[in-house]
Order: sequence, then C-alpha cells, then structure tokens
Amino acid sequence: MAKRDYYDILEVDKSASADEIKKAYRRQAIKYHPDKNPGDQSAEDKFKEAAEAYEVLSDEDKRAKYDRFGHAGMGNTGGFGGANMNMDDIFSNFGDIFGFDIFGNRSGGNGGRGRSVYRGTNLRIKVKMKLDEIAKGAEKKIKVKKDIACEQCHGSGAENPNANKTCPTCNGSGQLRRVANTPLGQMYTTTTCHTCHGEGQIITDKCKVCHGDGRVKGEEVLTLNIPAGVIDGVQLSMSGKGNAAPKGGVPGDLIIVIEEEEHPLLQREGNNVVYDLNINFADAALGTSLEVPTIDGRAKITIPAGTQPGKIFKLKDKGIPDLNGYGKGDELVIVNVYVPTHLSHEEKEAMTKIRSSENFMPKRSKEEKNFFDKVKEIFH
Ligand SMILES: [Zn+2]
Ligand SMILES: [Zn+2]
Repeated sequence: MAKRDYYDILEVDKSASADEIKKAYRRQAIKYHPDKNPGDQSAEDKFKEAAEAYEVLSDEDKRAKYDRFGHAGMGNTGGFGGANMNMDDIFSNFGDIFGFDIFGNRSGGNGGRGRSVYRGTNLRIKVKMKLDEIAKGAEKKIKVKKDIACEQCHGSGAENPNANKTCPTCNGSGQLRRVANTPLGQMYTTTTCHTCHGEGQIITDKCKVCHGDGRVKGEEVLTLNIPAGVIDGVQLSMSGKGNAAPKGGVPGDLIIVIEEEEHPLLQREGNNVVYDLNINFADAALGTSLEVPTIDGRAKITIPAGTQPGKIFKLKDKGIPDLNGYGKGDELVIVNVYVPTHLSHEEKEAMTKIRSSENFMPKRSKEEKNFFDKVKEIFH
C-alpha cells in the first residue's frame, strides 16, 4: 500500500505551523484512539499513521527532508518511524501531546510522563433489598444525584477546544523540572506545573455553562442488576458510574451497598432461611398438616404424630441461591411446642386426668428412672 502524504493524514496545509501540526495530530489521535475504538483495526492503523506523520512533521529537520524528497527521503530517519512503530512507542513518545483528557488512565496512569489525570470521586449509595428480591435477584432503577459531564462542552471545560493554548510555563508537559547543582552532581526535581495544574494546556475560551470545570450538578437514572444471593453489607461496584471528573477525566465508580430488609416471618442464616413454627401440644401429639411461609409464598408440611420440640423440617431448595453460584439454601422449619399458660376449669380437669397416664411419661434412661423413683420415695 502506498504511503499517504503526511500533510493529508493530519489534514493540514503544507505551510502549517508547528503549533497547528501539534493540534492537528492531537485531533487525529483522539479521534482514532484505541480506547475510543476498541477492536477497530482500521482506527488503530489510522492512529499509527497519524503518529508516524507527526513524528516527521514535528521535527524541523525531518520535515525539511520530507518536503524535499517525500517518503523517499525518510529511509534512515532513525527513531521508531515507519513499519516498526508500535502502540507503546506512540504512547511513550507522544503521550503528552494527547492531553490529560482521554489518555490518562492508559496502563495505570501516565506515571512516567507525569501528566496529571483528573478522576471523579466514587459515589456510594445504599440499596434496600427484601428477602424475596435477594432470592431472585433484582433489577432496580434508581436516580442518582451526581456530578455529570457538562453537555455544552462535552466535559472539556472549553467552549472552543481549538482555542486552548499550550501552557507557557511548562511548554505543555504539565511538569516543571528543576536542576540543582549539588556536590554529588546535578539533581533533578519534578513538580506539577502550577500554571496549568499539570494539564499542559490552558483553556482560553471557557465553557459558559460549567465555567471551565467540565462538570455540572445533575442526575442519572441507572438500572442496577443486583444478583441473587447478595448479603447485607456487600458492596457491588459499577465502574465509571460515579461522579464525573473535571475536564473530561476518568469518572469515579458507583459503589452499591446492599442493605437487607428484615423479613417479618423468616430469618436468614447464610443461604438458609429459618422459620420458627409454634404448634400446640395436641397437634404435636396427634400430628397435623399445615402451611408455613416461604420466601415466595407458602408450603404445606406434615407434622407427624409424636413430633418433639426442636424437630427441624427441611424444605429443600426453598432458601437463597449462593451468590457465587454454589447451589441453593433450604428453608428450615424449627418446631416449638407451645405450652398453654392459662387453662379453664374443664381443661384443667382433662389435663389432670391424663397427667399420670403411662404414655405421658417422658422417655427416660435407666439411670434417670432410678433417680426419679428415689426422689418419689423420699417425698411421698
Ligand atoms: Zn503548565
Ligand atoms: Zn461546560
């Protein structure tokens, strides 16, 4: 494939000034940046092409050669030009030209290049969940008040980004280097540029809506997909859904804190739910069948004759699905036999009649029997 003209690539005139070329490259680089065009090979090619054009046209010497000889003059320019150019080279060599806005978070921040990157703050919200919602998972629509990107300037803070000036204090690097002569040799210290606060450029035409900040107060309606099985206090995060950053930086995250609402009838224990079932003495002795509450309604259970207090009936898979997908909990129905605290005269008589019946005697071990028989002898 024949190489395209470098001026055409950057869409500038042959007479373009160094500053115009820089701006033109920045425009192209932002347009075709891989973060903005994930998986788009033609964008990546254009991105590389623009970097190559900029490498030559931003260098007075190379540009002069190119103007005289065209691509043929570029054979031995050294550097990283041409086919050997790769993305890492582009970022390490030209990263600072791109500015702070969209490149900041590439491979863990600009680190070595020192450009400051604005980051929006994280936003925490509490979301209440009922037990049945937890069991099924829930889609919740919520309105979040937060800092959002200014629509007028698309978050850049500039009414007209082309009017932005390269910071005169740091020449666009965002950093100030100081050299000190010490007995041990020259020492370099680097500080963030105080004029541009590390941005490398200065907005001359500030957005009238956000006054150059790039953010405004606003709200966003978000749809949260809360997975089944969440636990009280668990935090889920939605990356990039927090507060917008100043000047088009990286937005913060939205942290969702789950608050489990108490169920009026059921208690949660891990992935199981527990129901305390009170039955009367007669039902425990005679057996019965009844309905108990479950997370999604009710279930019938059979109480066999002679059911003892503390007996646990298990309703399989009537609990909560495991958050990590390891199966489902059960519902445990724990039987408690209610002993009446107030009896009518007739009830008292009936109870007294059956009191000493053989079948009413609790089951006892031999040792217990001996013990209670001895106690009887003493008192009767
Ligand atoms: Zn500066
Ligand atoms: Zn604005």
